[in-house]
Amino acid sequence: MHPAQFTADPPSTDRVPSTYDVIVAGCGPTGAMLAAELRLHDVRVLIVEQETEPASAVRIVGLHIRSLELMAMRGLLDRILPHGRQRPASAYFAAIPKPAPKGLDYRYAYLLGIPQPVIERLLEERAIELGAQVRRGRAVVGFEQDDEGVTVELADGEQLRSRYLVGCDGGRSTVRKLLGVGFPGEPARTESLMGEMEVGVPQEEIAAKVAEIRETHQRFWLRPAGVGVYSVLVPAAGVSDRAEPPTLDDFTRQLRAIAGTDFGVHSPRWLSRFGDATRLADRYRIGRVLLAGDAAHIHPPIGGQGLNLGVQDAFNLGWKLAARIRGWAPEALLDTYQAERRPVAEAVLDNTRAQTELLSTEPGAQAVRRLLTELMDFDEVNLHLLEKITAIGIRYDFGAGPDLLGRRLADIDVKQGHLYGLLHHGRGLLLDRTERLTVGGWSDRVDHLADSTAALDVPCVLLRPDGHVAWIGDDQRDLDDHLFRWFGSPAH
Ligand SMILES: Cc1cc2nc3c(=O)[nH]c(=O)nc-3n(C[C@H](O)[C@H](O)[C@H](O)COP(=O)(O)OP(=O)(O)OC[C@H]3O[C@@H](n4cnc5c(N)ncnc54)[C@H](O)[C@@H]3O)c2cc1C
Repeated sequence: MHPAQFTADPPSTDRVPSTYDVIVAGCGPTGAMLAAELRLHDVRVLIVEQETEPASAVRIVGLHIRSLELMAMRGLLDRILPHGRQRPASAYFAAIPKPAPKGLDYRYAYLLGIPQPVIERLLEERAIELGAQVRRGRAVVGFEQDDEGVTVELADGEQLRSRYLVGCDGGRSTVRKLLGVGFPGEPARTESLMGEMEVGVPQEEIAAKVAEIRETHQRFWLRPAGVGVYSVLVPAAGVSDRAEPPTLDDFTRQLRAIAGTDFGVHSPRWLSRFGDATRLADRYRIGRVLLAGDAAHIHPPIGGQGLNLGVQDAFNLGWKLAARIRGWAPEALLDTYQAERRPVAEAVLDNTRAQTELLSTEPGAQAVRRLLTELMDFDEVNLHLLEKITAIGIRYDFGAGPDLLGRRLADIDVKQGHLYGLLHHGRGLLLDRTERLTVGGWSDRVDHLADSTAALDVPCVLLRPDGHVAWIGDDQRDLDDHLFRWFGSPAH
């Protein structure tokens, strides 16, 4: 970033006054997280959600280590934990069961299984508590942007004005399509049916049959999901463009084809179909319109990464967009959103491609799977895959520097307790073991903790509001340069 590029958002000379600073299309996990992050900085946010009610498919999703860390950073984790089930962290790459590698000493070294509607509700509640407005039953159908803002059109013809629009409206994103952003990749090659239903045969009979089939068919399971209720996954008969959900008949037919019996399934709670299409948006931002979450990337659910990725996009974007709106961010700061997050999505798409290949029943793929299973006994291989899936291995490119630069800082002990307890307000933080530095004119955006006892093996770190290490050192002038780079001009 060059100082010459630093320009504040235009002052409010808007021809049409903006009622909102940001309109977020879509109240899924990405949209709700983004709205909450923006509200930490007093940004006026409206979420427009097309559905009148929250989603009903009670799919259990896994929150991985980095997402749990984000929740802890904002003081949300204690609220979420009672609703989920903790399992020890593991790479579970291509569903290969292996224990976590040795030496995994993170405070949040587990996977939290939680129903998607519950995590969505908790995130939406938090956004509302912080002051975001949510309008349900309203779909974004059009928009026009100019130099000063975006005019957003809803399905009922109402027009709203905001300074920015963010499409968090899922894989079929209207915002992305209207923006004309390419979404290249591979169409679905296979589809799966997933749902919850009751069964008509004893548990032992199901367990034995399922174990036998899963030796070769990884896209198949019947798992207890409550009293008398099973979660069922089977390959769909083919790939279909139909958006409507499958029927119970589709399940019984596929169960008989693979297992020779339909296990007497009946009384479905919910049924869904999903494919393995893999696509990535060419751009995450055009002018005042941005994309986040599934609107920017889709991939098969193997490894359970989509929701995690979307929530982490929102965490990366929130403070940057807020800084732009508050007037202290350089223009180039907003560009770092795509520069940092698109490569992360690219890597996730790639690991899901690899995992999908390993699920194939072809002899070659099965042989590679056996080989990888052996390799994962090496802790280094196991840890490498775990860091990929859980997103704790991410290192943003902040230029040359020590390995820690650009990485997330774990929740280390500091004299006031845990580091993450100091990040609840979404501000930057100087963690200063020399106890002689200062954040000077940036103290309205950046906190300062002088603590010679902090469990760090470098003198000082500057943390961005998303917990990534933006600077390491002990020199005040060098620190000031980096405060300027990330947090704009100092206040007078
Ligand atoms: C079987 C399966 C299992 C999965 N398991 C996991 C897992 O374990 N872990 C994980 O991390 N991920 C998992 N995922 C992926 C995860 O569900 C998605 O990645 C996640 O829901 C994406 O969140 P989002 O907010 O970006 O988009 P969405 O959840 O799709 O939310 C988009 C929202 O936008 C709304 N909307 C759409 N169009 C408009 C419009 N024009 N105007 C207004 N609102 C609009 C929609 O109604 C919706 O509420 C799984 C997915 C599947 C299919």
